[in-house]
Parts: sequence; structure tokens; C-alpha cells
Amino acid sequence: MTLSDREYSSFFHTYKRLPLEIVRGDGAYLITADGSRYLDMVGGVAVNALGYGHQRLIDAIAQQAARYIHVSNYFLQEPQIVLAETLCKYSGFSRVFFTNSGTEAMEGALKIVRRWGSLNGKNTILAISNAFHGRTFGALSLMDRPKYRAGFEPLLSGFATVEFNNVPSLLAAATPTTAAIVLEFIQGEGGIRPISPEFAETLKSLQQQFGFLIVADEIQSGLGRTGKFFGFEHFSVKPDIAVVAKPLGGGLPLGAILGGDAVANILEPGMHGSTFGGNPVACAAGIVVLDEIMEKGILHNISAMGAHFLQRLTALQNEYPLLIKEVRGMGLMIGAELTREADPVVVAMRDKRILVNGTDQTVLRFIPPLIIGREHIDATISALKEVFASL
Ligand SMILES: *Cc1c(COP(=O)(O)O)cnc(C)c1O
Repeated sequence: MTLSDREYSSFFHTYKRLPLEIVRGDGAYLITADGSRYLDMVGGVAVNALGYGHQRLIDAIAQQAARYIHVSNYFLQEPQIVLAETLCKYSGFSRVFFTNSGTEAMEGALKIVRRWGSLNGKNTILAISNAFHGRTFGALSLMDRPKYRAGFEPLLSGFATVEFNNVPSLLAAATPTTAAIVLEFIQGEGGIRPISPEFAETLKSLQQQFGFLIVADEIQSGLGRTGKFFGFEHFSVKPDIAVVAKPLGGGLPLGAILGGDAVANILEPGMHGSTFGGNPVACAAGIVVLDEIMEKGILHNISAMGAHFLQRLTALQNEYPLLIKEVRGMGLMIGAELTREADPVVVAMRDKRILVNGTDQTVLRFIPPLIIGREHIDATISALKEVFASL
């Protein structure tokens, strides 16, 4: 039996695996069992910010593993505290709760919202159409697409959907009993779609009018990915809660809920918790990830490489206007919306040893390690050109 057959007979069939067995990673490259090197423009789905084989990250993980791997949240653990302080320093938020995943951070954020709402007489949580917030019931309750919900209803009550970038829909949905609005300022799985400046402005003025909480899902767009610490910093909105995860643990499972003054004292001892949340090895990795991004020049690389990538993709669009409908993105969170299914392009790129991702049917998504250089972007563009020329 091949590895693929064994996977198929022993797993729930939830993942469409690529027919690649990875044996090692090196910088922006993945190496397969047959010795091929693949340029990775997906980065473990926006997780591997520092690429593969990052020595400082590996050392931090090894050192913390040698000290202790787990002791439980009954104890004070320095790596957690240092990482929480670091997150507060860069984010401007004042409270942190660590989780093991993105969806778990969203669940905790929803609990904070519900608790805050119960104390303030507000009971409805608004979400945006086409959103992605995770796979657990609270997160699913925020998501309107049948693709994710079908067969899992009834979901939670007390949720309503606002049409993405539709100002009248937002105006109609917000009321004095709105507890919160949850949104990705730049939708990720939904196709790399930023909210419009008008939508952001409306959100701000409605918050002033009704006093609801704004919850930013920064799981994909946060921690430098867009060239700023948070995606929402590109809009003049200041959320009350942000959730982060994907890159935070350098590939180890780690997420966080960050809260500001409005919710700083909402949770009391015993109201929320996690056995593994804030694992000290993952936190030791997180300290390195944030330091590399914020202090060691990666943030600048993201802006510079993001601009280069967008410019090259836009030139490609001018060359193939019948194939590329729109190019959009911020920093190294970039999408090229095609006029056809993205999948065949993804497969053709893989044959050229470049891994890209397709999302929302027609969008080619680029969420590479944040350490990539011009050569990686230029190689991706050259390969795309060859693929488009052959279509
Ligand atoms: C990936 C993602 C999630 C879910 O994170 P998990 O760690 O897979 O639970 C939630 N929101 C956004 C925007 C994401 O990109």
C-alpha cells in the first residue's frame, strides 16, 4: 500500500492531501521523499513565517523543551509571560489569553463578547458574509457559507450576517442590542478581500453610536503578514478584541485572544481555561517569531516584497487580462482572482515545483514565509507566465 492509500484507510476523509510526502524543509523550500525541492508560496497556510529550518527558532524550542515541556496553567511560566508582554507591547492591547488554535481563540473571544453583552444588555453578534473563522461551533455560527455549515445545524443562536462591504446592510443590522461585530479586515479563505474604506468608516461611526465591541479576526492577517502588526491597522478602526494564531508559535500550535480596556476585567478566575493553551515550548517559539518579525527586519521585507509581488502580478494581469480578473492584497497576503477555476493553475504550478494555493474557487492565494526574497517571487511569476501561456 502507498502512503496515500494508508492515509485514506486510516483517517476521516476531511483533507484533500497533495500527493507529496515531505521529508524536510529548508528556508522557503520543501523537500519531498523523491528529493525534489518545492518553492513554498503557501507556508503551511500562513503559519511558517520564518520559513523552515530557522536555527534561532529551533534552538529556542530545544532549550525550552529541555527545561520543561508542560507544567499546566496552575504555575507561573516565564515564556508565557514574556510572550504576553511582547504581544501587548506591539498590539497596544492590555490582556492576553493563550489558546492552541485559531478557532479556539475565536471561541474564547465569543465567550468574552457574550459575557460583556450579558452585563450590558446586548445579545446579537454580527458577522460578515463569506467569512472564515474556524471549524468549531461558535466560529461556524459566524459563517454564512453552506459549504461550511451544511449538515451541522442547528448552530448557535444570536448571530446575524452583514453582507461583505455592503454599507446599507451594515447600517440595517446594527442596533442598540448589538453586542459585537466580528470580522476579518482582509478576508483570507474568502479570497484575499479587504473591506472597503467606506465600510470601515461606517463600522467606526456605528460603534460610536451603539457602543458594541469590534472583534478582529487577525488569525491569517495578523503578526506582520500585511506589512503592519495587524491587518486592521490599514483601516482607521481600533478593535476591542483581536484573535491571532497561525504564525504565532513558529509552526507549533499557539493562538491568542488580545483584549483592550473595554473587556480587560470581563473574565474572572474559573470562567475560561485550557489545559494546553500557552504551552511554554510554543511560547518560547512565539517570542522568537515576534522578535524576528518586529525587530530583525522582516516587517520591512514584507512591505518591500509585497510591493514587488503586487507589481509583478499586475504586470502579468496586463499581459493576460482575459485570465486574471483582479490582483489584490497587502504585504505578503496576496490574491490573484482568475476568470476561471484556480485548481488547474495550482496543479500546473506544482508540476513546476512551486506550491501555490487556490481559495474561493477562482483565487490564487500567495501567503508565503515572510522571509522570501525577490528571487522567489520572480521564479513564481516566471512559472505563472509559462502556465498562463499554455492555457
Ligand atoms: C485559519 C483561520 C482560522 C482558523 O484557525 P485554526 O487554527 O485552523 O482553527 C480562523 N480565522 C481565519 C481568518 C483563519 O485564516
